[in-house]
Amino acid sequence: MAAERRPHCKFWFYTRSFKHQILFEELTELASLDNVSGFLSLDTANYDVGMLRFSQAEAGVWKLALLQEEPLSLADGFLEQVKSLAEKHEVVVFPKHHGGRHVAPLVDKNYTICPQVVGGLKLESRPNLAKPCQTCAFCLP
Ligand code: SF4
Repeated sequence: MAAERRPHCKFWFYTRSFKHQILFEELTELASLDNVSGFLSLDTANYDVGMLRFSQAEAGVWKLALLQEEPLSLADGFLEQVKSLAEKHEVVVFPKHHGGRHVAPLVDKNYTICPQVVGGLKLESRPNLAKPCQTCAFCLP
């Protein structure tokens, strides 16, 4: 596995490929490496399967990435379920954004709102300056 052969590199990924058992098991193996962080990417279309997978997996292997389409569009009970199953450092929220605007972020002490989406960190193309994810580092292993 490429990530396994590069223990000094940090990898992180977000996936919606958790519906099929075999693929989920392969990705779980990848997310289990010390130098890899894996996020189950959840939205209103897949959160039920995603939360099931999250609860079935060994604790600490997966984190959650919530695509927040609208403040009130997530189903009743879902956010409470997230809070009851996930640790504070395991949930990142990406408010839906387009053209420099984003929906009002969920406010909760258990969630980390991606600062690149809500404007705290700008995209940086200059090679000698840190990129937003390097500065923030929440998603990194
Ligand atoms: S800026 Fe932070 S929260 Fe957003 S994707 Fe990068 S590491 Fe994750």
